[in-house]
Amino acid sequence: MTGKSAPEPVFDAIVVGSGMSGGWAAKELGERGLKVLVIERGRHVEHGADYTDTQNPWEDQNWGRVNEDEVARDYFVQSRCYAFGTPTKHWWVKDSDHPYTTPDDRHFSWIRGYHLGGRSLMWGRQTYRLSEMDLAANAKDGHGVDWPIRYGDLAPWYDHVETFAGISGQAEGLEQLPDGKFLPPMELTSVEKDFKAKLAAKYPTRRMTNGRCAHLTKPTEEQQALGRTQCQYRSMCERGCSFGAYFSSLSATLPAALATGNVTVLTDAIVERVIYDPKSRRATGVRVIDQNTNAGSIHSARMIFLNASTIGTAQILLNSASEAFPTGLANRSDAVGRYLIDHMTGLGAIGTYPGFDDFYYRGRRPNGFYIARYRNLAEPGDGYIRGYAYQGGTFRNAWRRGVGEAGVGTEFKAKRREVGPWSMWLSGFGEMLPRPDNRVTLGKQRDKWGIPIVHIECSLGDNDRRMMKQINADAKEMLEMAGCTDIVVYPGDRNVGLGVHEMGTARMGRDPATSVLNGFNQAHDVPNLFITDGACMASSGCQNPSLTYMAITARAAHHAAEFLREGKI
Ligand SMILES: Cc1cc2nc3c(=O)[nH]c(=O)nc-3n(C[C@H](O)[C@H](O)[C@H](O)COP(=O)(O)OP(=O)(O)OC[C@H]3O[C@@H](n4cnc5c(N)ncnc54)[C@H](O)[C@@H]3O)c2cc1C
Repeated sequence: MTGKSAPEPVFDAIVVGSGMSGGWAAKELGERGLKVLVIERGRHVEHGADYTDTQNPWEDQNWGRVNEDEVARDYFVQSRCYAFGTPTKHWWVKDSDHPYTTPDDRHFSWIRGYHLGGRSLMWGRQTYRLSEMDLAANAKDGHGVDWPIRYGDLAPWYDHVETFAGISGQAEGLEQLPDGKFLPPMELTSVEKDFKAKLAAKYPTRRMTNGRCAHLTKPTEEQQALGRTQCQYRSMCERGCSFGAYFSSLSATLPAALATGNVTVLTDAIVERVIYDPKSRRATGVRVIDQNTNAGSIHSARMIFLNASTIGTAQILLNSASEAFPTGLANRSDAVGRYLIDHMTGLGAIGTYPGFDDFYYRGRRPNGFYIARYRNLAEPGDGYIRGYAYQGGTFRNAWRRGVGEAGVGTEFKAKRREVGPWSMWLSGFGEMLPRPDNRVTLGKQRDKWGIPIVHIECSLGDNDRRMMKQINADAKEMLEMAGCTDIVVYPGDRNVGLGVHEMGTARMGRDPATSVLNGFNQAHDVPNLFITDGACMASSGCQNPSLTYMAITARAAHHAAEFLREGKI
């Protein structure tokens, strides 16, 4: 099949992947009048009907815990993710069907969901903009290549995606954490308000704000027209939200894309490779394998957007090697697959917060608070560059304390009814530096569709480890400052990858010799190939990245449509 030339293009653009970034590419290209084919390797998912959010927590099989044998057999990697459980199991890939390899001493947890909507259905919905200092950091300290864009290039596109997606948050005027187009914030609990006041008094450089998240607190007419409604504070989000109250491809971008009449979605279709024509020096289409029948087919378009997620996109590029690009498509720089980064997570601390016994909260707020980066800004870092932020939250340790405790009878039940003391947790997110030997390559083994599986080598560097130490020390210190007791510091020994913020395998840059993509996310080597998922990131900041993928995708789609109209690609 790969030797055959592709048929005449029927579509202007193919978008590979229907997750967080693919949904945006489809919407923005479709709205600009382009005929778009979205190709998704996973199954179709019906928004609402296929969710488990109407199932009550007490109806969850095994209290939400997946049978150990099944975990060992099918979900030995995916089960490491906090959101994995019986009500959500179907969102995660079976590791037994989707293998990858790592060196024995350098494990990497590749957390995935292969279905329509990708991980936009399972994500934690925390949304923070990168700042000018994040985009200038590589140029300043020399780690990683200089981003070919700055905050001014992204700001209007952040506005654009936030207005459509619906981001709740509080404006703070912080240089390191730019404000956005916010819906009303979700209120802090009384304990969080107390902590905020104490923090401001003791550490005026550490600024705490309401968590910024992609939930509708006051839907706009545009959001309501898509059938989306206000967040119900149920905190069952990873099951999918029938209210469309949080942003996902299925609640927002794909319906908007389909409403244009220009977008076609093909599911169960694994893109094996991008087809490249050396004469025109353009990508002409993709080769696809039907995941159910193994039948192969070719689909053609005038341009290709790769949105298969950071590692999935690297896999496709590497597997698209040809005579013109022997080490992988668009890989003259040898940067494809390299510079893999994640955020350092699993760090921080939890403790019992004193007092406030006569206060409670209403509902289950699916959000918390955020302490913006302060290290290597107003406060120095202890022997490292870049910095970190914290997400945090509070809760009263009510009946959930009983989960896992053995017992029966009246006394046991009565104990479950006590609301218990307040707990506060602080969870650090640290910026990992890009290094060339943290990389994705193709292994010798093939998966059940005959596609070479990926080999992932990724480890933390000295800078990363020094930062992690201080993330834990600061978290403990801040909880102590607030008078917390029974403080437990998180062990910080998790695999890289469990931040589920993998990025960097086809980075943007100014120089084609050291980067894969230019400032419009267009491959330096292949002008009609665009990559706008996390693969494009030249560095990560410490902010959760998906909002940036959305803004970058919308921006790139705008320019790509212009280039196509002007006959430039
Ligand atoms: C539990 C959890 C919590 C998270 N919390 C947050 C958070 O709070 N904030 C945040 O910013 N991010 C968060 N994330 C990360 C966020 O989900 C990802 O950053 C985001 O989904 C990445 O978007 P994407 O388009 O690159 O990939 P995805 O959303 O994963 O979509 C990729 C799509 O491509 C498809 N695909 C892959 N390979 C192929 C192929 N060969 N052919 C065809 N289709 C293919 C996949 O099936 C998938 O549908 C979280 C993730 C998880 C799992």
